[in-house]
Amino acid sequence: MSKSPKLFIPGPTHVSDEILEAFSTPQIGHRTPEISELISDIIKGIQKVLYTTNHIYLVSHPATGLWEMAIRNSVRGKVLHCVNGAFSKKWVKVSSEIGVEYDLLEYDWGKGVQAEDIERKLSAEKYDAVALVHNETSTGVMSDIDKIGEVLKKFPQTYLLVDAVSSMAGVKIDVDSIGIDFILSSTQKAWGLPAGFSIAAASDRFISRSKKIRNKGYILSVDTYEKYYFKNQTPYTPSIPHLFGLKKVLDIIFQEGLENRWERHKELAKVVREWAIKMGQSLYAEGQFLSDTVTSINNDMRWDINAINERLLSRGFRMDRGYGDLKGEVFRIPHMGNIYAEDLLEYLNVFEECIDA
Ligand code: PLP
Repeated sequence: MSKSPKLFIPGPTHVSDEILEAFSTPQIGHRTPEISELISDIIKGIQKVLYTTNHIYLVSHPATGLWEMAIRNSVRGKVLHCVNGAFSKKWVKVSSEIGVEYDLLEYDWGKGVQAEDIERKLSAEKYDAVALVHNETSTGVMSDIDKIGEVLKKFPQTYLLVDAVSSMAGVKIDVDSIGIDFILSSTQKAWGLPAGFSIAAASDRFISRSKKIRNKGYILSVDTYEKYYFKNQTPYTPSIPHLFGLKKVLDIIFQEGLENRWERHKELAKVVREWAIKMGQSLYAEGQFLSDTVTSINNDMRWDINAINERLLSRGFRMDRGYGDLKGEVFRIPHMGNIYAEDLLEYLNVFEECIDA
């Protein structure tokens, strides 16, 4: 079997050998004291990563399901969806499909969600929740979640729902001080684990409101998760390999140190931005919204992205060629999770060699 190319796409991201090894730990029963001990350690670890005491749910399906969980458990009236890229747009589809009323706060792609715009909307109308994507993976745009949290504090009836799929575990998100009621992520981005598993943290008031909402279904109801939360178990058979992987990655995170981890992501983002400019390209996201985990680069130099892709593959790397309509015009370089300075520099060097090879 040929070796798979090293992933330099913004998810799934590269999984290191030591994490892959943790995934092959022999299975244990999902209603045993051993699993409760494992889950208890994982929950405490994730709470530290998120600076929170909120309840952590370990979910054996991708994060898309958690968009629905966020809405179903907190919105009876209307939700304000902030839309500035492909994933925030898809989240609206979820609200639409389940028949929840919503308004949109829309931005051109490349721009971030602005706290003052949310304040204007919330001053004009009552919303149960504001839903936004912290880090738009489609465009490499990261919004200022701290500022947005400050605004939400003026509107206590409006809960803050945050998709942190491509920022959680790569960027400091102080959930309790920001006041995030529901934050969600999947494991295949800055957590650096295989895909198919997700993580949520729910505030006390989110859980209380959920109890008053009927017809939430079963699998996405917070009630279902709460029933097993205090047993340190999951409501249904979890992906046990992901639990071993999460424990391993948390050990790696604490060995590195949280502040060092945030700093590494910032540093690597800077390296990519400077490299892109040096190569004659420009950055897609507006300056103040540049993401710490993924950079979108305008292909101003008209490089032949498909040819570069083929050459990179033959050198053992899988590149990103851009998301959706941006394909070919804009490409992305991820710098999150298990990517360290030496990995990134190696990739950029090989990339350079592949431009006119
Ligand atoms: N939200 C964002 C910002 C994403 O980047 C993605 C996937 O790339 C998703 C949500 C969907 O996550 P999943 O594929 O785990 O359902």
